[in-house]
Amino acid sequence: MEERPENPDMHVYARYTQETRLRAEEVIGKMMGGHALLYSSGLSAAASALDFYMPSTIAIRRGYFGVHEVIRKYCAGRNVSIIDLDDEYPVTQGAPAGNNLDFRHGTTLVWVESPLNPTGEARNIQHYAERAHAAKGYIVVDATLAPPPLQDPFRHGVDMIMHSGTKYFGGHSDLLMGILALQRYDQFKHLWEERSVNGRVPGNFETYLLLRSLRTMPLRVLRQSDTAAKLVKFLYSLTETQQPDSNVPAQIAHGRVVKQVWHSSLQPRATLEEEVEDTVKENHDFDPSSQITHGGSPTFGMLISNENYAKYLPHYLSYFIPATSLGGVESLIEQRVIASPGMDPRILRISVGLEDVEDLKVDIIAAMTRLVNEHS
Ligand SMILES: *Cc1c(COP(=O)(O)O)cnc(C)c1O
Repeated sequence: MEERPENPDMHVYARYTQETRLRAEEVIGKMMGGHALLYSSGLSAAASALDFYMPSTIAIRRGYFGVHEVIRKYCAGRNVSIIDLDDEYPVTQGAPAGNNLDFRHGTTLVWVESPLNPTGEARNIQHYAERAHAAKGYIVVDATLAPPPLQDPFRHGVDMIMHSGTKYFGGHSDLLMGILALQRYDQFKHLWEERSVNGRVPGNFETYLLLRSLRTMPLRVLRQSDTAAKLVKFLYSLTETQQPDSNVPAQIAHGRVVKQVWHSSLQPRATLEEEVEDTVKENHDFDPSSQITHGGSPTFGMLISNENYAKYLPHYLSYFIPATSLGGVESLIEQRVIASPGMDPRILRISVGLEDVEDLKVDIIAAMTRLVNEHS
């Protein structure tokens, strides 16, 4: 029988193997349709993905700012080019796609975050997987905003999936976790060996909390996705060109508060407000329903009509907590510029929790009405 060092008869030392972690990895591997590894955080998983592929070219556009910081660290002291997702990809020198573990500096790595943080808009993963492989490169998808069962990037040909397990896998805002998943066992084993050395494993107690969370994950995620789609529809009805329900006061409708809403359920987008940087800017005719199912990401963004409204609205709501992070059972709302420097200060990000959708709507109507009354 082939030796399985990641699954030994006896656990000797927790940097290598640990019982709770092994169990959680087996459950997540089954959920994702691959072999899963847990890391101490989403960003330590991202750093491990870069160390694994050793790219000399990275194609990326926007997305979670912390991943760009990790890339910056990886690039320090190395000769790495950062190119745009839609640039031409240089053909990988060294290990071609599908080759064994002969990674050398020379690989082209395509890094796709989908759905995109903070807007919840989806990218055409299949399109970038085909382009990456045509250049003998690899593609990693940061799928944090659409965890299983909403999206299966392996079905669209990606080599590796990354998640911040801190978000929907954890689901209760009480643990920090990273996940990498691959379909190839040889690559999984290689990554496992690297992790055994660099020690980027999660704490055992956090892993125990994660196992607790996995038991309710499909229930949570499907409900959050469903509620998010309903809220997106409601908020979109408050934009300039739309007609809201009769119970919505006219003073908060017709774009007076909500200028734009972004979410995969609103793609393909009719209007491309190009002055806003943080939106999906590629594949405008792409319909995400073939790659992202149910109601789409439970996290989405909106553009508020002015900066002052965007600053106060999070603090006028009762059900939504004004805080960063996403994926927990409580709904959160955040003026994104506070956590992510350089963003348009009118952008708010909402992470939908498990509250009743009608309660959330009533809360939003009351808070927006107060906003307009007090700040006009
Ligand atoms: C939160 C997040 C990360 C980073 O994960 P941590 O667990 O905080 O290290 C990476 N990508 C996306 C899309 C995220 O939302």
